[in-house]
Amino acid sequence: MDLLNTLVDKGLRRESPTREEALAVLATSDDDLLDVVAAAGKVRRHWFGRRVKLNYLVNLKSGLCPEDCSYCSQRLGSKAGILKYSWLKPDDASKAAAAGLAGGAKRVCLVASGRGPTDRDVDRVSETIKAIKEQNEGVEVCACLGLLSDGQAERLREAGADAYNHNLNTSEATYGDITTTHTYADRVDTVNKAHAAGLSACSGLIAGMGESDEDLVDVVFSLRELDPDSVPVNFLIPFEGTPLAKEWHLTPQRCLRILAMVRFVCPDVEVRIAGGREVHLRAMQPLALHLANSIFLGDYLTSEGQAGRADLEMIADAGFEVEGADQVTLPEHRTPGGCHDGGGCGTSADSAPPANEPRTDLVAVRRRGAGTDVAPNA
Ligand code: SF4
Repeated sequence: MDLLNTLVDKGLRRESPTREEALAVLATSDDDLLDVVAAAGKVRRHWFGRRVKLNYLVNLKSGLCPEDCSYCSQRLGSKAGILKYSWLKPDDASKAAAAGLAGGAKRVCLVASGRGPTDRDVDRVSETIKAIKEQNEGVEVCACLGLLSDGQAERLREAGADAYNHNLNTSEATYGDITTTHTYADRVDTVNKAHAAGLSACSGLIAGMGESDEDLVDVVFSLRELDPDSVPVNFLIPFEGTPLAKEWHLTPQRCLRILAMVRFVCPDVEVRIAGGREVHLRAMQPLALHLANSIFLGDYLTSEGQAGRADLEMIADAGFEVEGADQVTLPEHRTPGGCHDGGGCGTSADSAPPANEPRTDLVAVRRRGAGTDVAPNA
């Protein structure tokens, strides 16, 4: 297909596809799906080889959020029966992080629910970062605490944070349909604050919230412009008790096309498959490794992921390798001292439900790990 040859050439040169080309990837047929995966896989291997970076989530504070993000099980008024707890103590957070690192993760993502941190919260998280870094040499720490006020990104950087995550989630045009308590511009501002403080910016999206192909392309092009080092791609987990509980639109094939489009638009960036991987990609997860170079190990913030061991086996069986602590994730031009010229952001088998039915049976509320007395999944 001419389209795919063009996109591979552009991806290897870190050149942006046009909007039309990105839309055309989303519009490809199931007959062409393996060709799409193979083409985007060439771009992925050019920049990241067969390495898969593992990241581990620690939910420092769960639920009880005053914001109204309609996709989120922790939102104001959420009836989802998730774990709810306030700030984990630094030692408890460090123990949770150690489990993920022992399982093969190289980055720990410290996440807290809420609109954004108070200065006292930044102190708490700074203590937690220091505890994790003291106890785990070489670990990368990313903080995800919501909207940042002036000076907070710098304080997190001084405390040892390597990265800051704040997702754009969806297009600017549809942002107001998803959340009313803060704006798209607020989110962009926080990503820029993280960048300006010298933190590696991590910003991504959520697919499956009823958005159009144009919305998806818009948000991915906006991300390219913001130039984050990592782009997490979440597939909506339609939690019972949230406004988007009935939004079961994604198929494994759709998820693969979305990941391929993200890879073509952000060829040299760490593309991470985030929440919803097991729920929506299901048996197609190994194919997605040809597109993304990063995944979360273990559980998500409020739902359970597949067993950490199953992730490691999948990576090995698919012919990939877990990225070691001594390996650099990003291509040289995106690392400090590199040229970084802004050329691109850069149930049992016999009772399995039909493929096009919502797989609510795959959504399991997290009842283990951080905030519980039960051993974590790592
Ligand atoms: S996404 Fe964050 S800010 Fe929005 S409701 Fe959930 S925890 Fe709160």
